[in-house]
Amino acid sequence: MSEQIPVKQVDPKADPSQNNHKSVELYASRKKIYVKEVTGFFQRIRTISLCMLLGMYFLFCWISINGEQLVYFDLPHRKFHLFGITFWPQDFILLSLSLAIAAFGLFFITTLFGRVWCGYTCPQTAWTFIFMWLEERIEGSRNQRMKLDKQAGSTRKIAKKTLKHAAWLFVALATGLTFVGYFYPIRDLIHDLITFNANGWAYFWVAFFTVATYMNAGWMREQVCLYMCPYARFQSVMFDRNTRIVSYDPNRGEPRGGRKRDANPQDLGLGDCIDCGLCVQVCPTGIDIRNGLQYECIGCALCIDACDQVMEKMDYPKGLIRYTTENELEGQHSSLLRPRTFGYGFMLLLMFGIVGWQLLSRLPLGLDVIRDRGGLYQLGPNGAIDNSYVLKILNMTDSPQDYDITVSGIEGIHITTRTSAHVESGEVFSLPVVVEVEAEKIKDTNTEIHFELHEHDHPEIMIKRESRFLGPEPYHNGDD
Ligand code: SF4
Ligand code: SF4
Repeated sequence: MSEQIPVKQVDPKADPSQNNHKSVELYASRKKIYVKEVTGFFQRIRTISLCMLLGMYFLFCWISINGEQLVYFDLPHRKFHLFGITFWPQDFILLSLSLAIAAFGLFFITTLFGRVWCGYTCPQTAWTFIFMWLEERIEGSRNQRMKLDKQAGSTRKIAKKTLKHAAWLFVALATGLTFVGYFYPIRDLIHDLITFNANGWAYFWVAFFTVATYMNAGWMREQVCLYMCPYARFQSVMFDRNTRIVSYDPNRGEPRGGRKRDANPQDLGLGDCIDCGLCVQVCPTGIDIRNGLQYECIGCALCIDACDQVMEKMDYPKGLIRYTTENELEGQHSSLLRPRTFGYGFMLLLMFGIVGWQLLSRLPLGLDVIRDRGGLYQLGPNGAIDNSYVLKILNMTDSPQDYDITVSGIEGIHITTRTSAHVESGEVFSLPVVVEVEAEKIKDTNTEIHFELHEHDHPEIMIKRESRFLGPEPYHNGDD
């Protein structure tokens, strides 16, 4: 028999306060999370990785190679200096491929190890951890901070809060200055800002990144991960039953419950979780990993470090919370090698290969040939046929260069105008040229020809471009 849905009469004019419907609040205000500091293996790995990444971030703009900043995005001149190589808009394909490599690298790692990017390298995590470290040094431990916040205003409280916010603002300002220093030579930037000679945009962007860092790492913290980061939302589609993520082992831990240190859990009918709540207190997003995989979990593994300390104190084996897979938790075999990882791995290798090949075959000069649209051809002296072109020569080196131009493709073809050009660094030089062929050498009305551009001092550095040479009907001397 089919099931029927009961129909209820609804009066649209009825007072909503009189019915039994519960209203659901869609906005939940943020509850401040007091994160307990913890040490351990994974925290040490994060400290090393963050020190290296932050070191690179703060130092790279101060290091120079041949007078150029190690990393410098020169937007007004449309060139990027990266580790001694200058990239131009013509190298856009390399930038696109690098972004594709970064994306596939992220997918590959996420498929294998979950959100390790979020937990160990993401800038939001890095700056949040710096800010939390400063907070702990200035305001004290978790309990002391909670107590301080509950206290009425006092000189001590105001002094501590002022010092903390000053320290946060100092880090935020250093971050903002450094970021802008990748687009505006850092030494000039600092000098121009202090002497009020910088343009308004420099002040604006330094202020913008200072405020953004201070707000994101100081005030919003996990809210950025929960509500603003798109990656947090879609990364779960990359997980499968073999992805190694931070997980609580309920088979071992449940039923949870408090007990004396020397009590045998089996005698009490308990699992290994002593329900101390330490894993929740150290979690920067305030979740309880024992409730299973949650999108709030950034994979920082602080709960592993915390729980391992508890297990050690209780004389239980470590790893109640650990990096593991869904399959392993269910006692099944888990594999690193699977179609998804092969797919991402293959795409990564392919793109690394293409980028490597592009970098090795990259030439520091560019040439565009534009045929004169004014006429098909002109009759030159002695009945020769002339075609006109404009050559656009781009010098992609960091110094002025002299170039030589040749043309080939028809017997006796030659340039009747200038065959050399002096081009400044980064300049696109327009060179009008006239190409001439004797009429009797022309075999077709439209023939492919090739222009070659050589660096004068290094003729082996050469670029070739094809074009068309137009002429009259071929000359017949009656032999054929
Ligand atoms: S830290 Fe370990 S023992 Fe303590 S509540 Fe968390 S899972 Fe249980
Ligand atoms: S549950 Fe919390 S502490 Fe554990 S890995 Fe996730 S975010 Fe980090």
